[in-house]
Amino acid sequence: MLPSVTLVTRSLPGSSDFPVTAAMIAGTRHRVVVDTLIQPADMAPFAGATLVVYTHSDWDHCWGTAAFPGVPVIGHRVARERLTAPEAAEFLAQMRAKNPAAFAESQIIPPGLTFPHRLTIDAGGLTIDLHHLPGHTADSVVVHVPELGLLLAGDAVERPIPTLSEPGHIRQWAEELRRWSRAGVTHVVPGHGRPGGPELLAANAAYIDRLVEAAESGLAKGQSADEIAAELPLGALLPPGVVEQLPDYYREQHRLNIAQVVAELQAGR
Ligand SMILES: [Zn+2]
Repeated sequence: MLPSVTLVTRSLPGSSDFPVTAAMIAGTRHRVVVDTLIQPADMAPFAGATLVVYTHSDWDHCWGTAAFPGVPVIGHRVARERLTAPEAAEFLAQMRAKNPAAFAESQIIPPGLTFPHRLTIDAGGLTIDLHHLPGHTADSVVVHVPELGLLLAGDAVERPIPTLSEPGHIRQWAEELRRWSRAGVTHVVPGHGRPGGPELLAANAAYIDRLVEAAESGLAKGQSADEIAAELPLGALLPPGVVEQLPDYYREQHRLNIAQVVAELQAGR
């Protein structure tokens, strides 16, 4: 069998315009699934997987793992902490109560194999390098396949803008994205949105940089997060005409992103 990469994209339940993507990388030794999406049925195209990798522990990336009974699951050690915490099971119960059809078969399966910085898998003819890249979440990981120039970025990269879920590593995140944009990667698959090339990495880094600059200068003038956001609308950061075509989600997320940058900068003062 020749090495291959297969992508599966699903819409999040209840939102036809918000896709999430998982992948299977097939080498001659291992068939490695990267993220398991929302429910086991999402994983039907990946039958026969021999390893599962999580890019992070958010629900839309890891609730379909029950499709692979007995298959080892690998993730960052913080992903294991988060998925074994009582809040994870409580959140699934809440989501299932709201939408039983979408989440009846979803299960939380924490990674049994964890790592702190980097882990390399020899899939047979393909190397699968997992790199911790905190930012979107503290447990975020990107998956590099050097032979293919491929980076499966999880939610470390999104099109058109990244989601800054939590403060703590935001500036480091932009630096790492810039480093990856110069690392010879030719194909970038974001967790949400259409795949592209290294320009996606550079664009997400530039977006984060603009938010950090705006937040620094706003805080120096004594502005609140809302005042900083009012002076930096999303339309000003994207090519002309793009923002009008986006779901409302991104305008709201942009405002939340600015609040997270402000929280990170204030914590560092
Ligand atoms: Zn996501």
